[in-house]
Amino acid sequence: MPKTEEEKGFVSVINGRYKPKGKFHIIEANQPIFNKDTGKLAGVTNPRDMTYIHSYGGEAIFFESLSKGKLMATRCDNDKCDFKGSIHLPFRIYCPDCLRKMTAIDFTMKAKNSARIHSFIITHRSGAFNTLKLPIKFINIEFDDVVTILMSYLSVGDPELEKRVVPIFKTKNPTYTIMDLSFVPEGTSESELPEGFTF
Ligand SMILES: [Zn+2]
Repeated sequence: MPKTEEEKGFVSVINGRYKPKGKFHIIEANQPIFNKDTGKLAGVTNPRDMTYIHSYGGEAIFFESLSKGKLMATRCDNDKCDFKGSIHLPFRIYCPDCLRKMTAIDFTMKAKNSARIHSFIITHRSGAFNTLKLPIKFINIEFDDVVTILMSYLSVGDPELEKRVVPIFKTKNPTYTIMDLSFVPEGTSESELPEGFTF
């Protein structure tokens, strides 16, 4: 059942501190589990509704940028790093080679011009809490000059190895999660995009 406003938990940051407001833990009546064959008690259900506070920290800029139609990556600019200039996507804060903080860069144009499918998996059965349309077309994406592979999902058409794809962003009613980023084959028209998404 959808929760009322009084049953939801809200969080804001004021003066550098997290300020939770509302309800974060809701308990419902439990139910017994009986063995239908013997009539004996086997256990109980344990309904718990918990709102988890997920702090993005240094990755917040990545999720905020998605809502504005921008794909951010990070680049190591440390002169002493053997792999200076390496670009990482998924966005990661620290260089895995020298452990120094990397520089956030706008990778949107480069992604539009060079993203291609490295591999893919089509999933017909999802886990709990899935909100993506089934079957889910998970794709691993390669970009020019990026040393890592990004996992995302294809929203239009079917995946193929080496297929050129372009990023799309949920700029209308963003969720501020990784679901705000998806990909479609190059040449897809704006009218084919899922609701709320733009190029
Ligand atoms: Zn480095």
